[in-house]
Amino acid sequence: MTTLLASRSPPAAAPARLNLAGLTRSELEAALVACGAVEPARARMRAGQLWRWIYHAGARDFAAMTNISKELRAALEATCTLERPEVVDRQVSRDGTRKWLIRVGPGAEVETVFIPDVGRAGALCVSSQVGCTLNCSFCHTGTQPLVRNLTAAEIVAQVLIAKDDLEEWPSDGEERRLSNVVFMGMGEPLYNLDAVAAALDVMSDGEGLCLSRRRITVSTSGVVPELHRLGAETSAMLAVSLHAANDALRDELVPINRRYPLTALMAAVKAYPGLSNARRVTFEYVMLKGVNDSPADARALIRLIQGVPAKVNLIPFNPWPGSPYVCSDWETIERFAGILNRAGYASPIRTPRGRDILAACGQLKSESLKVRASQRPRPPRPHDVA
Ligand code: SAH
Ligand code: SF4
Repeated sequence: MTTLLASRSPPAAAPARLNLAGLTRSELEAALVACGAVEPARARMRAGQLWRWIYHAGARDFAAMTNISKELRAALEATCTLERPEVVDRQVSRDGTRKWLIRVGPGAEVETVFIPDVGRAGALCVSSQVGCTLNCSFCHTGTQPLVRNLTAAEIVAQVLIAKDDLEEWPSDGEERRLSNVVFMGMGEPLYNLDAVAAALDVMSDGEGLCLSRRRITVSTSGVVPELHRLGAETSAMLAVSLHAANDALRDELVPINRRYPLTALMAAVKAYPGLSNARRVTFEYVMLKGVNDSPADARALIRLIQGVPAKVNLIPFNPWPGSPYVCSDWETIERFAGILNRAGYASPIRTPRGRDILAACGQLKSESLKVRASQRPRPPRPHDVA
């Protein structure tokens, strides 16, 4: 009878296991206590041990953790996991660029891109939001309404997934290919600064992922009120998506400029904590044919950034399906770079990478849609082609 009753009642749902991968130190301590595996007095010590396994060794299960007792490993196994978010798609470009489409939750997907031979060894371009609230007219992500902010753990998980795929554990290996991180994927990092700052703490921890803060760059479209906090709290390198040297054009290309125009933006950049010749700001400038690429535009740019320790990254426009612009001709880009160089500014032209898999700057977009926001039609742009 008992057996019959038991088989008829619905199976008791197993309690969800806590995911420890991606947590900050304090979150990890709290999780170990919350799951009942560790008593509060020992949480700090245990979190320290687990930290090295998770972020230095890249452990994906508790069985590998040989300096932890069998009993504790069993308790952790029963209550916690080290799972990564699901990789829905993985593509490798002809030039070695890798792109992962990562599902962070139901209906929420982001893209992460690894670009070899950039920075000291290779750069991982991470997303900070699913979609973006801003809609810069040349950016594919901008056509996707914001679904939600990523948590710090979801930002860190992008690094873990890339390192799993690159087989780059332990973290302090000599031949590291992943040496730099750039927040240039989907989203505006300064609209999710708490999570970005916490993720930076995890990434730069010397007992874990060991990524130097000087090799972590946060790119912003110009959220002026958050710039100071970014520098003060994270010491990250700053990149500013400028794209135009006058307000009329920038209002059109980077609409946040209407709220924070160039004078306010430049004042905030000049006051960025730690800015010096050794730690220069990068101005990003996308090259749009006939829009912002004339010699007069280059000279206006020089006047605008005069006195700021800076370099200018010239980004050939990466087209995407339905994009309203065309990339400047190569000679035009070189002429533009020459004018900046002669004025004393390093102005590398960023070689487009991974274009064949839509992994280049501004091409990222996932299918995630927030239902109500997705009903919004996109207003026509001045440069939209018929
Ligand atoms: N939201 C942040 C970071 C993500 S965008 C920002 O705007 O800075 C990363 C960089 O890619 C920005 O400099 C952005 O202006 C640039 N970008 C966007 N779309 C692009 C495209 N289609 N071609 C080239 N660069 C693009
Ligand atoms: Fe958002 Fe940056 Fe794209 Fe602008 S360029 S829409 S801020 S992701």
